[in-house]
Amino acid sequence: MLAGDTIKSAADLRLPMVGVTLTSRYGYFRQILDERGRQTEAPEVWEMSKFMELIPEKITVEIEGRDVYVQAWLYEVKSLTGGNVPLFFLDTDIPENRPEDRGITAQLYGGDKAYRLKQEIVLGIGGVRMLNRLGFVIKKFHMNEGHASLLSLELLKEHKRDIEEVWDERLVWDIEKVKDLCVFTTHTPVEAGHDKFPYELVSNVLGEPVPLSVLRDLGGKDHLNMTLLALNLSKYVNGVAKKHGEVSQNMFPGYEIHSVTNGVHSYTWTCASFKRIYDKYLPGWANEPELFVRVGRIPDEEIWAAHMEAKQDLMHFVKSETRIEMVPEILTLGFARRATAYKRADLLFTDIERLQRIGKGKLQIVYAGKAHPKDEAGKWLLEKIFVIKEKLKGNIPMVYLPNYNMDMALKLVSGVDVWLNTPMRPLEASGTSGMKATHNGVPNFSVLDGWWIEGHIERFTGWAIGPYPSESKVSDTITDNEQDARDLYDKLENLVIPTFYNDRLTWVRIMQNAIGKNAYYFNSHRMMRRYVTEAYIR
Ligand SMILES: *Cc1c(COP(=O)(O)O)cnc(C)c1O
Repeated sequence: MLAGDTIKSAADLRLPMVGVTLTSRYGYFRQILDERGRQTEAPEVWEMSKFMELIPEKITVEIEGRDVYVQAWLYEVKSLTGGNVPLFFLDTDIPENRPEDRGITAQLYGGDKAYRLKQEIVLGIGGVRMLNRLGFVIKKFHMNEGHASLLSLELLKEHKRDIEEVWDERLVWDIEKVKDLCVFTTHTPVEAGHDKFPYELVSNVLGEPVPLSVLRDLGGKDHLNMTLLALNLSKYVNGVAKKHGEVSQNMFPGYEIHSVTNGVHSYTWTCASFKRIYDKYLPGWANEPELFVRVGRIPDEEIWAAHMEAKQDLMHFVKSETRIEMVPEILTLGFARRATAYKRADLLFTDIERLQRIGKGKLQIVYAGKAHPKDEAGKWLLEKIFVIKEKLKGNIPMVYLPNYNMDMALKLVSGVDVWLNTPMRPLEASGTSGMKATHNGVPNFSVLDGWWIEGHIERFTGWAIGPYPSESKVSDTITDNEQDARDLYDKLENLVIPTFYNDRLTWVRIMQNAIGKNAYYFNSHRMMRRYVTEAYIR
């Protein structure tokens, strides 16, 4: 999602950029949920030729000692501004390759370590070779997470020093030159997000593009750590929110880690009814989200009417998916994100009795999210939430919508009244769905982690759950479920519900601030301008 928004803003801003990724022909997966919330996964095959054009150029990469052919599909992201960012989707599904190699680019987030390493060879090494073949002259390579960091090895080979006799063999590798070419963004402090490969696997699959001693110096003694490799070969490194920059700095002492807070693509994440009022009162907003600063020009009634239109749309969608009728006049909480333990989708249900006392007749809840096929804790969480959903029946209508995707995300972030996020600190590196909500005037009610630390002004842009980061150093890293839940219930009961039902004027003011203060800043146009001035042109 984030990479897509990045590219769209680059196109709108007419940046001279090109993107490289893998085809992922079987997609991620389509989520099927039974009545108990048990998830099964179906392949989500997509017909690439409907969207993209196959280009004739082919390159090879060496995998397990044999040549694997790589072709590419071209997708152009064209903006109304005249900007155009070509994307190349690398693909090994060609007759020249052995059957097992043809599947390398098929599955997103699938397979074992060997499969992942093969994918990263195609992406990193194959990516550089394909760009060279196509005649691109690249001034900066921006590695989106460590998955692409093998590209730095290909660059090392390209920039080998031409010296005859050296006292240390390692001096022929021009590390400084490669660092000048590379920018690295780390996206999560969660361990599973950092690929590590045993060297035995590395030498079988990757071989030795650079001597093993050099690779170990750069990528770690015991495992090839893709994050470490990127850190050692990039001059500019950043985290994706201020707090995440600090957390990453503590994880990787000795490296200078900056931060560029994420943003979302404003036009993509604004629903039809809000697009209409923005076009009317803030013309040009889509390519200049700074214009949200003048949100006060939009009459309150029109903001409320646009919101109610989006809410009606969501309720229709909920009915068509689940046959459950929700009421547009009732305060509706939304929660949708990957179902994984640290996101704590169950925090809202810590004390079901209290939730029912507070919310009976006054609350509706909409949930969605996929668990990774191998994430057992995430799958268990889904079943737990389904049990709770049944318990709440009759008091608090609740739905869990299957197969969370982009279209559904827009309906959810625009059609609920409050966007809830309850991650364990400090694991939410940034979070972006809350930014999408703000583009539709939907305020956040969230744990102070990631972007919300920067966007939150209590009772002004939304509400915090749990302690403030400044209150104690301990609260930054230790999560107290009970304390967070208590605060969630207290504020829901004493602030959120009363304001929604009894003080519509204040409520619309908060909606306005979500747009004028949050969407104004947390958009990918601002993010890309910062990457250009702080990372790319340096
Ligand atoms: C925005 C989005 C995400 C990421 O949301 P986070 O709040 O960053 O977790 C994931 N999936 C879909 C479908 C999205 O639209």
